[in-house]
Amino acid sequence: MEIVCLDLEGVLVPEIWINFAKRTGIRELEATTRDIPDYDVLMRQRLRILDEHKLGLKDIQAVIADMGPLPGAAEFVEWVREHFQLIILSDTFYEFAHPLMRQLGWPTIMCHRLESADDGRITSYVLRQPDQKREAVKALHGLNYRVIAAGDSYNDTNMLSEADRGILFDAPENVIREFPQFPVTRSYEELKAEIRKGSLRRIP
Ligand SMILES: [Mg+2]
Repeated sequence: MEIVCLDLEGVLVPEIWINFAKRTGIRELEATTRDIPDYDVLMRQRLRILDEHKLGLKDIQAVIADMGPLPGAAEFVEWVREHFQLIILSDTFYEFAHPLMRQLGWPTIMCHRLESADDGRITSYVLRQPDQKREAVKALHGLNYRVIAAGDSYNDTNMLSEADRGILFDAPENVIREFPQFPVTRSYEELKAEIRKGSLRRIP
């Protein structure tokens, strides 16, 4: 049996924090782990900024719903699900992913979660497990699944290494250079072609 594991942001939907910052005009929210390498410091800063702007979960979800998936993503997900089992492995939070999962037809997703107060204010975040993308692929191997995985960034490379076939999708040049072992794809058609190659079956 074969499972396809896909990263979410940059593969099926836009980068959530960057897009959220653009749409709301809150420049400080554009900071990423490239600017602040300590993820906990970065997340605490993000939650503080949201709080300062009085943005609760409902407001944030409305902005995220408006972003929508990337063009062609919904059709691509449908194709994957027709031929494989699909699990999305993401470092986002269920509460942020929810409006986008609706637009992708509710595929299975494993990610992290947020804690919020009754008034919708986000109070903290809970990472489900360290290195969770790699752990998920390991666990699927334990269940005797063959895994084909695709992602676009550094936080995917452990998952891609652990998978039977790892594929880069629309990755930045530095990631492509550092991980020459993974095939590079730039469109859903190219990604489909690599997934077909990674499969032991004949996939139309
Ligand atoms: Mg990504």
